[in-house]
Amino acid sequence: MPIASEMTAFDSAKALFSRYAESLQLEKRYPGRRLHERLTLPDRSVEFRLTLQLDRGDTLITQGYRVQFNDDRGPYKGGLRFHPLVDLEEVKALAFWMYLKTAVVEIPFGGAKGGIRVDYENLTLAEKERLTKKYVLVLGDEIGPEKDIPAPDVNTGEREMAWIMDAWRMHHGRYERGVVTGKPVAVGGSQGRTSATGRGVFFCIEEAAREMKLDLAQCAAAVQGFGNVGRHAALFLHQAGVRVTAVSDVHGAIRNSQGLDIPGLIRHVQEAGQVAGFKGGDSFARDDLFFEPVDILVPAALENAITAERAERIQARLVAEGANGPTTPDAIALLGEKGVTVIPDILCNAGGVTVSYFEWVQNRQEFYWSAEQVDHELRAVMVRAYRQVAAEAASQRCTLREAAYRLAIARVADAAHRRGAQ
Ligand code: GLU
Repeated sequence: MPIASEMTAFDSAKALFSRYAESLQLEKRYPGRRLHERLTLPDRSVEFRLTLQLDRGDTLITQGYRVQFNDDRGPYKGGLRFHPLVDLEEVKALAFWMYLKTAVVEIPFGGAKGGIRVDYENLTLAEKERLTKKYVLVLGDEIGPEKDIPAPDVNTGEREMAWIMDAWRMHHGRYERGVVTGKPVAVGGSQGRTSATGRGVFFCIEEAAREMKLDLAQCAAAVQGFGNVGRHAALFLHQAGVRVTAVSDVHGAIRNSQGLDIPGLIRHVQEAGQVAGFKGGDSFARDDLFFEPVDILVPAALENAITAERAERIQARLVAEGANGPTTPDAIALLGEKGVTVIPDILCNAGGVTVSYFEWVQNRQEFYWSAEQVDHELRAVMVRAYRQVAAEAASQRCTLREAAYRLAIARVADAAHRRGAQ
Protein backbone atom coordinates (compact mmCIF):
# COMPACT_ATOMS: atom_id res chain seq x y z
CA MET A 1 0.00 0.00 0.00
CA PRO A 2 1.50 3.38 -0.92
CA ILE A 3 2.00 5.93 1.83
CA ALA A 4 -0.79 8.43 2.32
CA SER A 5 0.68 11.23 0.21
CA GLU A 6 1.16 8.87 -2.74
CA MET A 7 -2.32 7.44 -2.55
CA THR A 8 -4.39 8.09 -5.63
CA ALA A 9 -8.04 9.01 -5.31
CA PHE A 10 -8.85 5.43 -6.34
CA ASP A 11 -6.60 4.02 -3.58
CA SER A 12 -8.46 6.22 -1.06
CA ALA A 13 -11.82 5.12 -2.43
CA LYS A 14 -10.87 1.44 -2.12
CA ALA A 15 -9.45 1.97 1.37
CA LEU A 16 -12.71 3.54 2.52
CA PHE A 17 -14.78 0.81 0.92
CA SER A 18 -12.72 -1.87 2.69
CA ARG A 19 -12.95 -0.04 6.00
CA TYR A 20 -16.73 0.14 5.84
CA ALA A 21 -17.48 -3.15 4.06
CA GLU A 22 -15.74 -5.18 6.76
CA SER A 23 -18.64 -5.20 9.19
CA LEU A 24 -21.05 -6.28 6.44
CA GLN A 25 -19.15 -9.57 6.13
CA LEU A 26 -19.90 -9.98 2.44
CA GLU A 27 -18.01 -13.26 2.19
CA LYS A 28 -20.02 -14.76 5.00
CA ARG A 29 -23.32 -13.50 3.67
CA TYR A 30 -22.62 -14.52 0.06
CA PRO A 31 -20.09 -17.36 0.34
CA GLY A 32 -17.79 -17.84 -2.61
CA ARG A 33 -19.16 -14.90 -4.56
CA ARG A 34 -16.12 -12.66 -4.02
CA LEU A 35 -18.32 -9.61 -3.86
CA HIS A 36 -15.62 -7.48 -2.28
CA GLU A 37 -13.52 -7.91 -5.42
CA ARG A 38 -16.47 -7.60 -7.75
CA LEU A 39 -17.44 -4.29 -6.19
CA THR A 40 -13.96 -2.76 -6.08
CA LEU A 41 -12.84 -3.55 -9.63
CA PRO A 42 -14.34 -1.51 -12.47
CA ASP A 43 -16.38 -3.53 -14.98
CA ARG A 44 -14.51 -1.73 -17.74
CA SER A 45 -12.13 1.22 -18.02
CA VAL A 46 -11.05 2.76 -21.27
CA GLU A 47 -8.35 5.29 -21.94
CA PHE A 48 -8.04 6.51 -25.49
CA ARG A 49 -6.19 9.01 -27.62
CA LEU A 50 -8.14 12.05 -28.69
CA THR A 51 -6.87 14.17 -31.54
CA LEU A 52 -8.19 17.67 -32.04
CA GLN A 53 -7.49 19.97 -34.94
CA LEU A 54 -7.01 23.40 -33.39
CA ASP A 55 -8.41 26.49 -35.09
CA ARG A 56 -4.93 27.83 -35.77
CA GLY A 57 -4.05 24.70 -37.74
CA ASP A 58 -1.92 22.53 -35.47
CA THR A 59 -3.04 19.44 -33.63
CA LEU A 60 -3.69 18.71 -29.97
CA ILE A 61 -3.28 15.14 -28.83
CA THR A 62 -4.66 14.17 -25.45
CA GLN A 63 -6.38 11.39 -23.53
CA GLY A 64 -10.03 10.61 -22.99
CA TYR A 65 -11.40 8.23 -20.38
CA ARG A 66 -14.60 6.40 -19.52
CA VAL A 67 -14.85 4.06 -16.57
CA GLN A 68 -17.98 1.92 -16.29
CA PHE A 69 -17.63 0.74 -12.75
CA ASN A 70 -20.74 -1.18 -11.88
CA ASP A 71 -24.17 -1.74 -13.41
CA ASP A 72 -25.64 -4.25 -10.97
CA ARG A 73 -28.52 -1.89 -10.10
CA GLY A 74 -29.05 -0.33 -13.55
CA PRO A 75 -27.33 1.29 -16.53
CA TYR A 76 -24.01 3.06 -15.96
CA LYS A 77 -24.44 6.71 -15.01
CA GLY A 78 -22.05 9.53 -14.32
CA GLY A 79 -20.57 12.83 -15.38
CA LEU A 80 -17.79 14.02 -17.64
CA ARG A 81 -14.90 16.07 -16.30
CA PHE A 82 -12.74 18.13 -18.65
CA HIS A 83 -9.70 19.20 -16.68
CA PRO A 84 -5.90 19.30 -17.14
CA LEU A 85 -5.31 17.00 -14.15
CA VAL A 86 -7.82 14.27 -15.01
CA ASP A 87 -6.27 10.80 -15.16
CA LEU A 88 -7.52 7.23 -15.21
CA GLU A 89 -7.11 6.71 -11.45
CA GLU A 90 -9.20 9.78 -10.68
CA VAL A 91 -11.92 8.74 -13.11
CA LYS A 92 -11.98 5.27 -11.54
CA ALA A 93 -12.49 6.79 -8.10
CA LEU A 94 -15.24 9.07 -9.34
CA ALA A 95 -16.99 6.17 -11.11
CA PHE A 96 -16.70 4.07 -7.95
CA TRP A 97 -18.41 6.79 -5.90
CA MET A 98 -21.12 7.13 -8.56
CA TYR A 99 -22.44 3.60 -8.16
CA LEU A 100 -22.43 3.99 -4.38
CA LYS A 101 -24.22 7.34 -4.73
CA THR A 102 -27.01 6.00 -6.94
CA ALA A 103 -27.48 3.18 -4.42
CA VAL A 104 -27.66 5.57 -1.44
CA VAL A 105 -30.53 7.51 -3.03
CA GLU A 106 -32.02 4.34 -4.55
CA ILE A 107 -32.25 5.45 -8.15
CA PRO A 108 -32.07 2.63 -10.72
CA PHE A 109 -28.59 3.28 -12.09
CA GLY A 110 -25.08 1.97 -11.67
CA GLY A 111 -22.00 4.16 -11.75
CA ALA A 112 -19.59 5.48 -14.35
CA LYS A 113 -17.47 8.56 -14.99
CA GLY A 114 -15.54 10.00 -17.87
CA GLY A 115 -13.19 12.77 -18.68
CA ILE A 116 -10.73 14.43 -20.97
CA ARG A 117 -7.30 15.57 -19.83
CA VAL A 118 -7.32 19.04 -21.28
CA ASP A 119 -7.06 22.72 -20.41
CA TYR A 120 -10.62 23.03 -21.63
CA GLU A 121 -11.24 26.60 -20.56
CA ASN A 122 -8.57 27.86 -22.92
CA LEU A 123 -9.97 26.21 -26.05
CA THR A 124 -12.12 28.22 -28.46
CA LEU A 125 -15.83 27.50 -28.66
CA ALA A 126 -15.43 25.63 -31.97
CA GLU A 127 -12.57 23.55 -30.54
CA LYS A 128 -14.66 22.70 -27.47
CA GLU A 129 -17.50 21.45 -29.65
CA ARG A 130 -15.21 19.38 -31.88
CA LEU A 131 -13.46 17.81 -28.89
CA THR A 132 -16.70 16.97 -27.08
CA LYS A 133 -18.24 15.41 -30.18
CA LYS A 134 -15.03 13.49 -30.92
CA TYR A 135 -15.21 12.00 -27.44
CA VAL A 136 -18.72 10.71 -28.21
CA LEU A 137 -17.74 9.34 -31.61
CA VAL A 138 -14.75 7.45 -30.18
CA LEU A 139 -16.96 5.85 -27.51
CA GLY A 140 -19.50 4.87 -30.17
CA ASP A 141 -21.95 2.30 -28.86
CA GLU A 142 -20.46 2.36 -25.37
CA ILE A 143 -22.84 5.14 -24.43
CA GLY A 144 -26.60 4.98 -24.87
CA PRO A 145 -29.81 5.49 -22.90
CA GLU A 146 -29.95 1.90 -21.72
CA LYS A 147 -26.23 1.39 -21.33
CA ASP A 148 -24.25 4.36 -20.08
CA ILE A 149 -25.61 7.86 -19.64
CA PRO A 150 -23.15 10.78 -19.24
CA ALA A 151 -23.92 14.06 -17.48
CA PRO A 152 -22.14 17.26 -16.43
CA ASP A 153 -19.25 17.39 -13.99
CA VAL A 154 -16.31 19.81 -13.55
CA ASN A 155 -16.09 22.20 -16.53
CA THR A 156 -18.98 20.64 -18.44
CA GLY A 157 -22.59 21.77 -18.47
CA GLU A 158 -25.72 22.17 -20.56
CA ARG A 159 -23.83 23.23 -23.66
CA GLU A 160 -21.65 20.09 -23.72
CA MET A 161 -24.63 17.82 -23.00
CA ALA A 162 -26.52 19.24 -26.02
CA TRP A 163 -23.42 18.58 -28.17
CA ILE A 164 -23.26 15.02 -26.87
CA MET A 165 -26.89 14.37 -27.76
CA ASP A 166 -26.25 15.82 -31.21
CA ALA A 167 -23.09 13.75 -31.81
CA TRP A 168 -24.91 10.58 -30.74
CA ARG A 169 -27.77 11.44 -33.11
CA MET A 170 -25.34 11.95 -36.00
CA HIS A 171 -23.63 8.65 -35.30
CA HIS A 172 -26.78 6.56 -34.78
CA GLY A 173 -29.10 8.39 -37.17
CA ARG A 174 -31.91 8.92 -34.70
CA TYR A 175 -32.95 11.13 -31.85
CA GLU A 176 -32.44 9.71 -28.40
CA ARG A 177 -32.66 12.40 -25.76
CA GLY A 178 -32.08 10.04 -22.86
CA VAL A 179 -28.51 9.31 -23.99
CA VAL A 180 -27.28 12.15 -21.79
CA THR A 181 -28.67 14.21 -18.90
CA GLY A 182 -28.07 17.79 -17.87
CA LYS A 183 -29.18 19.07 -21.29
CA PRO A 184 -30.70 22.53 -21.79
CA VAL A 185 -34.48 22.53 -21.25
CA ALA A 186 -34.86 23.64 -24.89
CA VAL A 187 -33.62 20.23 -26.15
CA GLY A 188 -35.19 17.93 -23.57
CA GLY A 189 -33.39 18.79 -20.35
CA SER A 190 -35.18 18.88 -17.02
CA GLN A 191 -36.23 21.91 -15.06
CA GLY A 192 -34.07 22.25 -11.99
CA ARG A 193 -31.16 20.05 -13.15
CA THR A 194 -28.53 22.81 -13.04
CA SER A 195 -29.32 23.80 -9.48
CA ALA A 196 -30.06 20.22 -8.34
CA THR A 197 -26.74 19.30 -6.72
CA GLY A 198 -26.64 22.53 -4.72
CA ARG A 199 -30.29 22.12 -3.77
CA GLY A 200 -29.65 18.57 -2.58
CA VAL A 201 -26.69 19.78 -0.50
CA PHE A 202 -29.03 22.31 1.09
CA PHE A 203 -31.74 19.72 1.85
CA CYS A 204 -29.12 17.58 3.61
CA ILE A 205 -27.88 20.57 5.62
CA GLU A 206 -31.47 21.31 6.68
CA GLU A 207 -31.91 17.73 7.89
CA ALA A 208 -28.57 17.69 9.72
CA ALA A 209 -29.28 21.08 11.32
CA ARG A 210 -32.60 19.78 12.63
CA GLU A 211 -30.87 16.78 14.20
CA MET A 212 -28.07 18.88 15.62
CA LYS A 213 -30.54 21.51 16.86
CA LEU A 214 -28.78 24.21 14.87
CA ASP A 215 -30.94 27.19 14.03
CA LEU A 216 -29.95 27.96 10.44
CA ALA A 217 -30.96 31.60 10.83
CA GLN A 218 -28.20 31.91 13.47
CA CYS A 219 -25.55 30.03 11.47
CA ALA A 220 -22.60 31.15 9.38
CA ALA A 221 -21.27 29.11 6.47
CA ALA A 222 -18.17 29.01 4.26
CA VAL A 223 -18.24 27.56 0.75
CA GLN A 224 -15.09 26.30 -0.98
CA GLY A 225 -15.55 26.42 -4.77
CA PHE A 226 -17.95 28.61 -6.69
CA GLY A 227 -18.70 26.42 -9.68
CA ASN A 228 -22.16 25.04 -10.30
CA VAL A 229 -22.39 23.17 -6.98
CA GLY A 230 -20.83 25.81 -4.69
CA ARG A 231 -22.74 28.72 -6.13
CA HIS A 232 -26.13 27.03 -5.84
CA ALA A 233 -25.43 25.69 -2.36
CA ALA A 234 -24.39 29.21 -1.30
CA LEU A 235 -27.53 30.67 -2.86
CA PHE A 236 -29.92 28.25 -1.13
CA LEU A 237 -28.16 28.76 2.21
CA HIS A 238 -28.39 32.52 1.75
CA GLN A 239 -32.10 32.29 0.86
CA ALA A 240 -32.69 30.27 4.02
CA GLY A 241 -31.19 33.05 6.14
CA VAL A 242 -27.76 31.49 6.71
CA ARG A 243 -24.96 34.06 6.72
CA VAL A 244 -22.54 32.86 4.02
CA THR A 245 -19.49 34.67 5.33
CA ALA A 246 -16.73 33.27 3.08
CA VAL A 247 -16.47 31.89 -0.43
CA SER A 248 -13.46 30.79 -2.47
CA ASP A 249 -12.68 29.74 -6.03
CA VAL A 250 -9.48 28.68 -7.82
CA HIS A 251 -8.18 32.22 -7.91
CA GLY A 252 -8.88 33.50 -4.40
CA ALA A 253 -11.34 33.99 -1.56
CA ILE A 254 -13.53 36.72 -0.10
CA ARG A 255 -15.15 37.16 3.29
CA ASN A 256 -17.64 39.38 5.06
CA SER A 257 -18.53 38.55 8.66
CA GLN A 258 -21.98 40.12 8.17
CA GLY A 259 -22.70 37.69 5.34
CA LEU A 260 -21.98 38.05 1.62
CA ASP A 261 -24.72 39.16 -0.78
CA ILE A 262 -24.74 35.88 -2.75
CA PRO A 263 -27.01 36.98 -5.66
CA GLY A 264 -24.73 40.04 -6.05
CA LEU A 265 -21.64 37.83 -5.90
CA ILE A 266 -23.06 35.51 -8.59
CA ARG A 267 -23.59 38.53 -10.86
CA HIS A 268 -20.04 39.71 -10.12
CA VAL A 269 -18.58 36.27 -10.99
CA GLN A 270 -20.56 36.18 -14.24
CA GLU A 271 -18.79 39.37 -15.28
CA ALA A 272 -15.37 39.12 -13.63
CA GLY A 273 -14.88 35.35 -13.84
CA GLN A 274 -13.77 35.15 -10.22
CA VAL A 275 -14.92 35.99 -6.69
CA ALA A 276 -11.98 38.33 -5.99
CA GLY A 277 -12.78 41.96 -6.59
CA PHE A 278 -16.34 41.70 -5.26
CA LYS A 279 -17.10 44.98 -3.52
CA GLY A 280 -19.17 43.40 -0.77
CA GLY A 281 -16.28 41.48 0.81
CA ASP A 282 -12.55 41.47 1.62
CA SER A 283 -10.08 39.27 -0.19
CA PHE A 284 -8.03 36.71 1.73
CA ALA A 285 -5.86 33.67 1.01
CA ARG A 286 -7.83 30.95 -0.78
CA ASP A 287 -6.69 28.04 1.37
CA ASP A 288 -7.52 29.81 4.63
CA LEU A 289 -11.21 29.38 3.86
CA PHE A 290 -11.28 26.04 5.68
CA PHE A 291 -10.41 27.67 9.00
CA GLU A 292 -13.08 30.37 9.03
CA PRO A 293 -15.11 30.73 12.25
CA VAL A 294 -18.30 29.24 10.80
CA ASP A 295 -20.85 26.60 11.78
CA ILE A 296 -21.12 24.99 8.35
CA LEU A 297 -18.38 24.27 5.82
CA VAL A 298 -19.23 23.20 2.27
CA PRO A 299 -16.28 21.85 0.26
CA ALA A 300 -17.56 22.08 -3.32
CA ALA A 301 -14.45 21.84 -5.50
CA LEU A 302 -12.13 18.87 -6.15
CA GLU A 303 -10.90 15.77 -4.29
CA ASN A 304 -8.58 15.78 -1.28
CA ALA A 305 -9.20 19.42 -0.33
CA ILE A 306 -9.56 18.63 3.39
CA THR A 307 -6.31 17.00 4.45
CA ALA A 308 -5.55 15.92 8.02
CA GLU A 309 -3.55 19.12 8.52
CA ARG A 310 -6.49 21.24 7.51
CA ALA A 311 -8.98 19.11 9.40
CA GLU A 312 -7.13 19.90 12.64
CA ARG A 313 -7.89 23.58 12.19
CA ILE A 314 -11.48 23.37 10.97
CA GLN A 315 -13.88 25.20 13.29
CA ALA A 316 -17.17 24.21 11.63
CA ARG A 317 -19.44 21.73 13.40
CA LEU A 318 -21.01 20.52 10.19
CA VAL A 319 -19.23 19.70 6.93
CA ALA A 320 -21.45 19.12 3.88
CA GLU A 321 -19.50 17.49 1.06
CA GLY A 322 -20.73 19.10 -2.16
CA ALA A 323 -17.66 17.81 -4.02
CA ASN A 324 -16.77 14.19 -4.66
CA GLY A 325 -14.06 12.88 -2.33
CA PRO A 326 -13.12 16.24 -0.80
CA THR A 327 -11.84 14.70 2.48
CA THR A 328 -8.80 12.40 2.67
CA PRO A 329 -9.13 9.14 4.67
CA ASP A 330 -6.86 10.57 7.44
CA ALA A 331 -8.92 13.72 7.65
CA ILE A 332 -12.12 11.66 7.82
CA ALA A 333 -10.82 9.92 10.94
CA LEU A 334 -9.68 13.19 12.46
CA LEU A 335 -12.98 14.99 11.91
CA GLY A 336 -14.69 12.01 13.53
CA GLU A 337 -12.46 12.33 16.60
CA LYS A 338 -13.19 16.06 16.76
CA GLY A 339 -16.92 15.33 16.78
CA VAL A 340 -17.58 17.19 13.54
CA THR A 341 -20.68 15.93 11.72
CA VAL A 342 -19.86 15.21 8.08
CA ILE A 343 -22.58 14.65 5.48
CA PRO A 344 -20.68 12.37 3.09
CA ASP A 345 -20.37 13.08 -0.61
CA ILE A 346 -22.25 9.98 -1.78
CA LEU A 347 -25.30 11.30 0.05
CA CYS A 348 -24.76 15.05 0.14
CA ASN A 349 -24.14 15.68 -3.56
CA ALA A 350 -26.55 13.04 -4.89
CA GLY A 351 -29.15 15.67 -5.85
CA GLY A 352 -27.50 16.12 -9.26
CA VAL A 353 -27.75 12.51 -10.33
CA THR A 354 -31.24 12.30 -8.82
CA VAL A 355 -32.54 15.04 -11.11
CA SER A 356 -30.55 13.38 -13.93
CA TYR A 357 -32.70 10.34 -13.26
CA PHE A 358 -35.83 12.52 -13.42
CA GLU A 359 -34.59 13.92 -16.73
CA TRP A 360 -34.05 10.42 -18.13
CA VAL A 361 -37.55 9.40 -17.01
CA GLN A 362 -39.04 12.51 -18.67
CA ASN A 363 -37.10 11.77 -21.86
CA ARG A 364 -38.35 8.21 -21.99
CA GLN A 365 -41.92 9.40 -21.60
CA GLU A 366 -41.52 12.63 -23.58
CA PHE A 367 -43.59 14.20 -20.85
CA TYR A 368 -42.09 17.08 -18.93
CA TRP A 369 -42.44 18.16 -15.32
CA SER A 370 -42.72 21.63 -13.81
CA ALA A 371 -39.86 23.10 -11.77
CA GLU A 372 -42.03 22.74 -8.64
CA GLN A 373 -42.61 19.04 -9.31
CA VAL A 374 -38.87 18.43 -9.82
CA ASP A 375 -37.98 20.21 -6.57
CA HIS A 376 -40.73 18.40 -4.69
CA GLU A 377 -39.57 14.97 -5.90
CA LEU A 378 -35.93 15.87 -5.27
CA ARG A 379 -36.68 16.88 -1.72
CA ALA A 380 -38.55 13.62 -1.17
CA VAL A 381 -35.60 11.53 -2.40
CA MET A 382 -32.95 13.48 -0.49
CA VAL A 383 -34.86 13.61 2.78
CA ARG A 384 -35.71 9.91 2.62
CA ALA A 385 -32.08 9.01 1.88
CA TYR A 386 -30.77 11.32 4.61
CA ARG A 387 -33.13 9.82 7.19
CA GLN A 388 -32.30 6.24 6.22
CA VAL A 389 -28.59 7.02 6.55
CA ALA A 390 -29.09 8.83 9.86
CA ALA A 391 -31.15 5.91 11.22
CA GLU A 392 -28.44 3.42 10.15
CA ALA A 393 -25.79 5.63 11.81
CA ALA A 394 -27.82 5.69 15.03
CA SER A 395 -28.43 1.95 15.09
CA GLN A 396 -24.83 1.05 14.21
CA ARG A 397 -23.35 3.86 16.33
CA CYS A 398 -21.26 4.96 13.39
CA THR A 399 -20.71 8.06 11.29
CA LEU A 400 -23.05 9.14 8.51
CA ARG A 401 -20.34 8.16 6.02
CA GLU A 402 -20.03 4.63 7.33
CA ALA A 403 -23.82 4.34 7.40
CA ALA A 404 -24.14 5.56 3.80
CA TYR A 405 -21.46 3.09 2.65
CA ARG A 406 -23.11 0.24 4.57
CA LEU A 407 -26.51 0.88 2.97
CA ALA A 408 -25.07 1.36 -0.51
CA ILE A 409 -22.77 -1.66 -0.42
CA ALA A 410 -25.55 -3.89 0.96
CA ARG A 411 -27.93 -2.77 -1.82
CA VAL A 412 -25.44 -3.32 -4.61
CA ALA A 413 -24.26 -6.63 -3.15
CA ASP A 414 -27.86 -7.82 -2.98
CA ALA A 415 -28.46 -6.82 -6.62
CA ALA A 416 -25.22 -8.48 -7.74
CA HIS A 417 -26.16 -11.64 -5.88
CA ARG A 418 -29.64 -11.76 -7.39
CA ARG A 419 -28.23 -11.33 -10.88
CA GLY A 420 -26.17 -14.46 -10.51
CA ALA A 421 -22.58 -15.52 -10.33
CA GLN A 422 -21.47 -15.01 -13.93
N1 GLU B 1 -21.30 14.65 -11.99
C1 GLU B 1 -22.37 14.55 -11.05
C2 GLU B 1 -21.98 13.70 -9.87
O1 GLU B 1 -20.82 13.57 -9.57
C3 GLU B 1 -23.69 14.15 -11.69
C4 GLU B 1 -23.72 12.83 -12.37
C5 GLU B 1 -25.02 12.57 -13.14
O2 GLU B 1 -25.91 13.38 -13.10
O3 GLU B 1 -25.07 11.51 -13.77
O4 GLU B 1 -22.81 13.21 -9.16
